[in-house]
Amino acid sequence: MKKFETLKKTIRDVPDFPKKGIIFKDITTLLKDKAALKKTIDVLATEFAKKKIKYVVGIESRGFIFGTALAYKLGVGFVPIRKKGKLPAKTRAVTYDLEYGTDTLEIHEDALKAGDRVLIVDDLLATGGTVQAVVKLVRGLGAKITGIGFVIELSFLNGREKLPGLPVFSIIRYE
Ligand code: AMP
Repeated sequence: MKKFETLKKTIRDVPDFPKKGIIFKDITTLLKDKAALKKTIDVLATEFAKKKIKYVVGIESRGFIFGTALAYKLGVGFVPIRKKGKLPAKTRAVTYDLEYGTDTLEIHEDALKAGDRVLIVDDLLATGGTVQAVVKLVRGLGAKITGIGFVIELSFLNGREKLPGLPVFSIIRYE
């Protein structure tokens, strides 16, 4: 049996969501399975345990679910990256291209300091545009990216190409 095959089975494919032609990887079915949830966090924690991370940086919103659980497990703090207009204090923003139009992500300006070692977490790596924007925000505050972790990677979209030189880890890949 392939590695993490049991875990992979807990992810539900929802065709044509949010629009025709997209196969949405629904992780709510993984989250409600206690063994799958535990396995996911444990695998990520094992991967990054020795990297001397100071903060987990999670991307709204599914990156919050995995990111905070992982931060707890690693015994470190959590920093949220949110969509525009949601963070209350002074922010830095980055705007990036989507298939149609643009999107803006923000981080609190005082959330990270120069030299802080961080791990970026999201549920899924697709084209890599979202996480590339987050890399810019984190680097903009001078923090050091010691890892980027995903539960799922859609390898055929080549998202890793947008993250040169960065240590990218994903548990489950779709070729
Ligand atoms: P990208 O910027 O293309 O790498 O897209 C990554 C973001 O979009 C992640 O936050 C994912 O949650 C979401 N996403 C993209 N494609 C899918 C998909 N097929 N199923 C579920 N979520 C997706």
